[in-house]
Amino acid sequence: MVKFLDLAKQYQEIAPEINSAITDVIKSSAFIGGGYLEKFESEFASYQSAEYCIGVANGTDALEIAIEALDLPPGSEIIVPANSFIASSEAVSRTGHRVVFCDCNSDDYTLSLSSVESLITQTTAAVIAVHLYGHPCEMDPLLELAKKFGFYVIEDCAQAHGAEYKGHRVGAIGDVGCFSFYPGKNLGAYGDGGAITTNSEHIETRCRMIANHGRIDKYDHLFEGRNSRLDGMQAAVLSVKLKYLDEWTSRRIECAELYLKHLSCVPGLELPVRKNWAKQVYHLFVVRVADREWVQQELRHLGIQTGVHYPKSLPNLAAYDYLEQDTTKFFATQNDRYLLSLPMGEHLEGADSMRVVSSLRELLA
Ligand SMILES: *Cc1c(COP(=O)(O)O)cnc(C)c1O
Repeated sequence: MVKFLDLAKQYQEIAPEINSAITDVIKSSAFIGGGYLEKFESEFASYQSAEYCIGVANGTDALEIAIEALDLPPGSEIIVPANSFIASSEAVSRTGHRVVFCDCNSDDYTLSLSSVESLITQTTAAVIAVHLYGHPCEMDPLLELAKKFGFYVIEDCAQAHGAEYKGHRVGAIGDVGCFSFYPGKNLGAYGDGGAITTNSEHIETRCRMIANHGRIDKYDHLFEGRNSRLDGMQAAVLSVKLKYLDEWTSRRIECAELYLKHLSCVPGLELPVRKNWAKQVYHLFVVRVADREWVQQELRHLGIQTGVHYPKSLPNLAAYDYLEQDTTKFFATQNDRYLLSLPMGEHLEGADSMRVVSSLRELLA
């Protein structure tokens, strides 16, 4: 069996360290706030090359809080790529703004700059740059547009821990970065977790206050915020796992290189492109294949688990029927039926990846 994800195997690799970290948190009752959280925030800020890191309850909260922290005029337009997880666009509506979908590139699947440019209006207040599948968006031209037209750039880094654009880690290249530590992400907690990264002291202060009830003292509140915490236990687990992240990322890259090498000439199979300025951390390895359902089913019979990210691009979801934006000409909205995510992760041995390769080659020969 070639698994899509194997968190139990990952745990076996680091069990003693994890167990003692969790025990320490319990013994010191550092459940909320405290030393383990502060330690992880500082380690993760430094890992992502950001001045500040604020732990929050999950990646969706990170996006909502980051957007709220920017104090945009109500009803602002925020451009979101059409292929992403719904959290990227949901956070826009939940904070009182308007989702405007843009198309994606047909090679690396991140947002298309020409599409973004064509959608900019007077009320465009931000763009959510989703570093999808672990591939960074092309940031320089996006930041130029942002400067020229006066909008913010929010990075959705939920799939891109450690990814780099031209040698810079994602998360503080734009104005603010949002991370998820959902268990299946490249850096995953043992439950929910998330973080916001930024180089702006103002944004940092705003995010911290919003996530902590607008608090300035225990029972003194400057405004109504909310409760969104990364708890001590998750922070302690994440501190342990962060030490292994580079090694796990290297294994992902090795697996991707093996796929790229051995699947390059398979008829009917299109491989993802890594731009030469990108350190792609391969949260997912997504290929395009014509008869996706059939290939997925055949692979399942051969004991190979795959996934689809995502079966419906965001504009194709019922949740966005209310938008009066015509996205039928988007590459993203036509392409969702061909996407197939191959097994990818630090759990795969070379023999596992080769089984995926040989099975695909046989099926598509
Ligand atoms: C996982 C994910 C999120 C949301 O993170 P949660 O921690 O599950 O709330 C947001 N954006 C993208 C692109 C994701 O993959």
